[in-house]
Amino acid sequence: MTRKRITILGATGSIGQSTLKVLATRPDYQVFALTANENVELLLAQCQQFKPEFAVLGTEALAQDLTTKIQSLGLSTQVLSGTAALAQVARDPSVTHVMAAIVGGAGLAPSFAAAESGKIILLANKEALVMAGAIFMDAVARSNATLLPVDSEHNAIFQCLGQSSHVGKGVRRILLTGSGGPFLDTPLADIHRVTPDDACRHPNWDMGRKISVDSATMMNKGLELIEACWLFDVPPEKIEFVIHPQSIVHSMVEFVDGSVVAQLGQPDMRTPIAHVLAFPERCEAGVAALDFSKLTALEFRAPELSRFPALSLARTVASGPKSLAITFNAANEVAVEAFLAERLSFLNISEVIKAAVDVAATPELNSLGDVLTCDQEARALTRRILKAYD
Ligand code: NAD
Ligand code: MG
Repeated sequence: MTRKRITILGATGSIGQSTLKVLATRPDYQVFALTANENVELLLAQCQQFKPEFAVLGTEALAQDLTTKIQSLGLSTQVLSGTAALAQVARDPSVTHVMAAIVGGAGLAPSFAAAESGKIILLANKEALVMAGAIFMDAVARSNATLLPVDSEHNAIFQCLGQSSHVGKGVRRILLTGSGGPFLDTPLADIHRVTPDDACRHPNWDMGRKISVDSATMMNKGLELIEACWLFDVPPEKIEFVIHPQSIVHSMVEFVDGSVVAQLGQPDMRTPIAHVLAFPERCEAGVAALDFSKLTALEFRAPELSRFPALSLARTVASGPKSLAITFNAANEVAVEAFLAERLSFLNISEVIKAAVDVAATPELNSLGDVLTCDQEARALTRRILKAYD
């Protein structure tokens, strides 16, 4: 058996931890590197269990701390720090697979390094594709890399498309489902008062705080629209949003003959993670079977666009200049951070993003450097807009 060697970017996060749960049952995988921003204790425990060659932390001081702890346990893991180290462990010639599970724009450069060096990329970090879709897909094609979607909807679409991995071959439309988050039916007058903890209490999924807020605003679905356009080479008009509060159907594809193919499963990320880890085969994910005697109702409805302004804005962005998607993503990250720090109200998140998208410059993007510069400018612009909300 040739062992696969995997780097997990964002190992201490929600997706990272679920990935390691599945990998614990997979002797065909060897963990090459684990990365985290600042959670030294959890990364140490993961190093003890998986014995990677490298561990990466956000700063030199944290790396020193982990090195001391690693040495006192007699482990041989080498500890590195900083963004160059993230790209290094993603690009290492001995690595076959990279799980891209850093949250936000911080994941772009290391995910891009994996794309340029021909890896099998298991992509959870949707923001990377939203920001840099064209150059990312180009890097994947040029290096002969493989891009497998971890995001549950995109993983579902990938499975539903079957042999036709690109839309066009008889596909009428993609039905992108979303639960609608914790405020789907909350009276609009009460949404003004919601706190970060309310927004992070998702009815079905247990996720990191940033994506939980994105689910509550439905910015997550907006980002996923753009992500799907790149992954499946499909125009935004062919993608429809469908509210499905139970999160059992993870998305659907409708073909021109009227067939609709859906993927169903528990709302547990170990299913799409196990799917991409074993692809094209299948492996145990540790997820309970669906009990159809208890699934008495699966509901579907159209989203209320006035409740979720992020959905219409995402459509404008998806068909506009490519740099708009960078602003859309950057403004969201800055606004969500302000909301989580209780400096911005929930309803103002979408307002701030729209204000940034409305006035942002639309530069040409030819390289990763161009994307990162545009991202920095969009963040600075959003911080200036936020001053009006102090
Ligand atoms: P999380 O907040 O739980 O974890 C994020 C990980 O990224 C952590 O390991 C953290 O240390 C690392 N990180 C954060 N900032 C960093 C930085 N500046 N530099 C280096 N590392 C950094 O997030 P999550 O919920 O696991 O989400 C990860 C990605 O997966 C996101 O892009 C999210 O949209 C996507 N995703 C998550 C889920 C889910 O169920 N959690 C589902 C679909 C897609
Ligand atoms: Mg998703």
